[in-house]
Amino acid sequence: MNKVEANLMAWLRNTHAMEEQAVTMLTSLASRTGDYPDVKARIESHLAETKRQAEALEECIKRRGGDTSILKDLAAKTVAFGQGVSGMFVEDEIVKGAMASYTFEHMEAAAYRVLIAAAEAVGDTQTQTVCERILQEELSMASDLERQLSILTRKYLSRSRVK
Ligand code: MG
Ligand code: FE
Repeated sequence: MNKVEANLMAWLRNTHAMEEQAVTMLTSLASRTGDYPDVKARIESHLAETKRQAEALEECIKRRGGDTSILKDLAAKTVAFGQGVSGMFVEDEIVKGAMASYTFEHMEAAAYRVLIAAAEAVGDTQTQTVCERILQEELSMASDLERQLSILTRKYLSRSRVK
């Protein structure tokens, strides 16, 4: 494995860990958005998408000859962070959760842009295609959350006014 290939492998692993973390965060957020059915439905659909993304990355790692047995360790380490972020959702949780998710989708989009460029650099068109598809899913989720942020905040505020 040359230097560039090693970089691509490291970034694939990191991004896989990021997706595992996303599963933890989205699961937690979905369970707390019962009062906001539109948001909940969108989170659940992205949760399913996110699980497929993690599998697709694992396939890319395997295809490139990477060891997938250590993926679990890396994911376990980042779960702690995911749970920390999930813990943020307890008070004005829904608004903070939406903000955190919006930010997280952009971090994911950045990771996929890096992967696309690295896959292109080593001529791995399959990995490039997979990452281009996932990038669109992250951008779509980011733009849906962008739209939902103000709607959600207004709903949250009008609800707390009633109480
Ligand atoms: Mg993702
Ligand atoms: Fe995502």
